[in-house]
Amino acid sequence: MFSQRIERARESMAGLGVDVLLLSLGADLPYFCGYEAMPLERLTMLVVPRDGDVHLVVPHLEAPRVVERPEVFEMVTWRDGEDPIAMVADLVGASTTAAIGDQTWAGFVVDLASACPGLGFRRASEVTAPIRMVKDDAEVEALRQAGAAVDRILADVQAGKVALVGRTEADVAAQIGRRILDEGHHRVNFVIVASGPNAASPHHEPGGRVIRADEGVLFDIGGTMAGPDEVGYCSDITRCVHVGEPPAGFAELYAVLHSSHAAGVAAATVGTPCEDVDAAARRVIDDAGYGEYFVHRTGHGIGVEAHEHPNIVAGNDLPLVAGHAFSVEPGIYVPDSWGARLEDIVVATVDGPDAMNRIDHGLAVVDG
Ligand code: ZN
Ligand code: ZN
Ligand code: ZN
Repeated sequence: MFSQRIERARESMAGLGVDVLLLSLGADLPYFCGYEAMPLERLTMLVVPRDGDVHLVVPHLEAPRVVERPEVFEMVTWRDGEDPIAMVADLVGASTTAAIGDQTWAGFVVDLASACPGLGFRRASEVTAPIRMVKDDAEVEALRQAGAAVDRILADVQAGKVALVGRTEADVAAQIGRRILDEGHHRVNFVIVASGPNAASPHHEPGGRVIRADEGVLFDIGGTMAGPDEVGYCSDITRCVHVGEPPAGFAELYAVLHSSHAAGVAAATVGTPCEDVDAAARRVIDDAGYGEYFVHRTGHGIGVEAHEHPNIVAGNDLPLVAGHAFSVEPGIYVPDSWGARLEDIVVATVDGPDAMNRIDHGLAVVDG
């Protein structure tokens, strides 16, 4: 699997005139070699020349974490006191154009630029995003498993099986975080629990606010679950519940949101530009008069990263192809009042949009 992926990267490098691909922190590294670097100050770097051997430069003390794959890369370790930049510069050799991982620490990029005068830099995502965007069957299956896991959690919330009233958002979020792991993820990426007016902040950080018996609560949760060759794939879902019967204004807002979501998913067919999917979801909200309260793009790609390409956003004219996986997550946020978002992960297929999340889209009314 990894050798095939590296082969595809090399074809892409040839097309773009890139001599060497340098991958450090971020999801490109596990995607192409199965190893995820720790986000620390010591340099880890996969050096992929267009021709020749691939090397993984790794701190000696982190080497025991590396699953060696001699058919993919040769591991080169460095000890504290040695100069890993010089080691990478050596491997880069006479290359003139490098594509360097988008999340590489800027400090290392600056040091490499000094150590390799004449080396030009581009973003690795130019090489890697078009490859990572299109999921194969095993990747889609991993996304489906992760989606089913978070479905089970929020289905319980919708069924009123998770106590809400009288508890803080942070307390409920901690419980859901543990459940994300219990359901088979190996990492919790985020748990948003936003009650009442806090739901008007799309990326609300759950805090000390105590959930009341007469308000909406938004849940946006996701984690990473091991897929093919132990590389992790992400889940991401949003549902809203209302404790007690919702006031008419909120029910109306939610009905618009539900229609918007359905329109976005229905538009997500092969050949449709990403921006048209955004427009389809946005039009429903605009037409209902809530346009100014839909403050973000309709969706983002998902895979080994919770947010990756393609973005479902105005200006992205990339047509969907079979295997593109992304969220459809319109939201309506009325500051100081309330907010709601509805999110599923969808995969474009020749048979139409395939949702990785299957639980009810309605505003569930719970007792608390
Ligand atoms: Zn999302
Ligand atoms: Zn989300
Ligand atoms: Zn629906």
